Amino acid sequence: MEEEKIRELKARAWKAIDRRAEELERFVRDVGKHAEVGFFETRTSARLEEFLKGLRLPVQSGFALTGVEALFDAGKPGPKVAVLGELDSVVCFDAPDADPVTGAAHQCGHHVQLGVLLATAVGLVESGQELAGKVVFMGVPAEEYIQIERRLKLKEEGKIHFIGGKAELIRLGRFDDVDMTMMIHAASNRPEASVDRSQTSNGFVGLTVRYIGRQAHAAASPDQGVNALNAAVLGISAVNALRETFRDEDHVRVHFIITKGGDLVNCVPDDVRLEAYVRASSVPVIEETLARVVRAFKAGGDAIGAKTECRVLPGMFPLSGCPELYELFYKNSEPLVPKENFFNGGHMSGSTDMGDVSQIMPAMQPSTGGMDGALHAAEARVTDYNAAVIVPGKAMVAALIDLLSDDAARARHIVSSFKPNLTRDEYLKKLNSYFEYAHKLEA
Ligand SMILES: [Zn+2]
Ligand SMILES: [Zn+2]
Repeated sequence: MEEEKIRELKARAWKAIDRRAEELERFVRDVGKHAEVGFFETRTSARLEEFLKGLRLPVQSGFALTGVEALFDAGKPGPKVAVLGELDSVVCFDAPDADPVTGAAHQCGHHVQLGVLLATAVGLVESGQELAGKVVFMGVPAEEYIQIERRLKLKEEGKIHFIGGKAELIRLGRFDDVDMTMMIHAASNRPEASVDRSQTSNGFVGLTVRYIGRQAHAAASPDQGVNALNAAVLGISAVNALRETFRDEDHVRVHFIITKGGDLVNCVPDDVRLEAYVRASSVPVIEETLARVVRAFKAGGDAIGAKTECRVLPGMFPLSGCPELYELFYKNSEPLVPKENFFNGGHMSGSTDMGDVSQIMPAMQPSTGGMDGALHAAEARVTDYNAAVIVPGKAMVAALIDLLSDDAARARHIVSSFKPNLTRDEYLKKLNSYFEYAHKLEA
C-alpha cells in the first residue's frame, strides 16, 4: 500500500475520532465517577461492552469475572493485535470522585485507558477494512494488585486463580492467539499531551506476613501474653535495616502496610497482619531480596516469641517492552504532541502486569499526558481530555494502520523477529511456583 493511501486511512480514522470526541470524554468522565476495584468492575465492564457493541463489533464478556473483548477483523489473514484498557481503580477515600462506600477512585487513570481503547476502536472501524489481520480490544480486570486477602478469598471460591488480571487472562487462554499487545498508561504530573520514552519497569512478588502471639489483658497481665504487634514492629525495623544493602541499579523497592494491627487496645494483640511487595528490575534480584526480607520479618517474630507466617504470592514480571512497537507509537504521536513534551522518565520503579504480557510476546505501554498530580494520590486528575484520550487514541490507531497495512508487513516482521523471554507454559509454571515459594525459603 502506497504512502498516500496510508496517510488517507489515518486521516479518515482521526476524523472519526474527532467526530465522537465529546462522547468519548463523557464516557471517561462517567467511568471516572463510578470507579470499581479489580475483579468487581461490573458497571465499568458493562459500559465498555455497550460502547463496543454500538460499534457493531462482536463482543465477548465475563471472563476473569469482568473481562470484555471486541474483535475487529479486517477480513484478510494476518497477525492479531490486542489493544488493552484496564477496568479497575485503586482505593483513595480522599479523592474527589471516590466511591463513598468502597473508596474506589481512578487515581491511576485507568478510565483514561478505556477512552483510548474506544477512540482507537472508533478510528479503526472507520478505516480498517483495507488492512490485514485482526485487532482485539480488551477491557482487562484487576491490574492493581490490592486487597490481597479479599482476592485470596475469590481464589478459594474458585473464581480466580491468580491475584492479577492479565495473569488470569493468560491462564485462561485469552492471549493464546494474540501476536502482540499495545496499551498506554497515564503519566504522573503531565497535564499536557506528552509521551514518556521509558520502556522498562520493575517487577515484584507479593508477600503476606502474619504474626501470631497470645492474647492477655494489656495492663493486668501482659506478662501472660505474646505481643504480635511488637513482633511486627521489630520485623519492619529489620526490613528497614536491609535498605542500605539495596543497589541503586537494581531499583529495589520494599513496601508494606499493616492490614490488621490488633483488636482492642486493652488486649495484647495476638494477630497482626501485613501485605508487602518486594520489587526490583530483574527476577533474580526480586528473589534474592525476597529471601532476605522474609528472614528479616521472621526475626521480629523470633525476638518476641510469636509465630511468623510468611506467604509468598505471584506478583508481576518486569516490563520488557518491544522497541519497534514503541517507535511506531512515538512516530505517530509526533504530529500530535509538542516535541518538547517527549521525555524519558527512565526505568519505572512501579510495576504493571503488562510486564507479564511482555515476557511472552511483543508489547508496549508508553506513558502519556493529560493528567496532573501524582498517580495513586488524591490529587491525580484528568486536566485535558484531548491530551489524555484523543491524542493517544489517534496515535494508537495510526500505529495499528502502520502495522497492518501492506498485508500487515510490519506486524509480520515484528512477530518473526521477536524472541520471547518465556513461552506461555514457562511463564505460567514460573508464576505458579511462587505459590509454593515460602516452603522453598524454609527448606
Ligand atoms: Zn496504579
Ligand atoms: Zn495503573
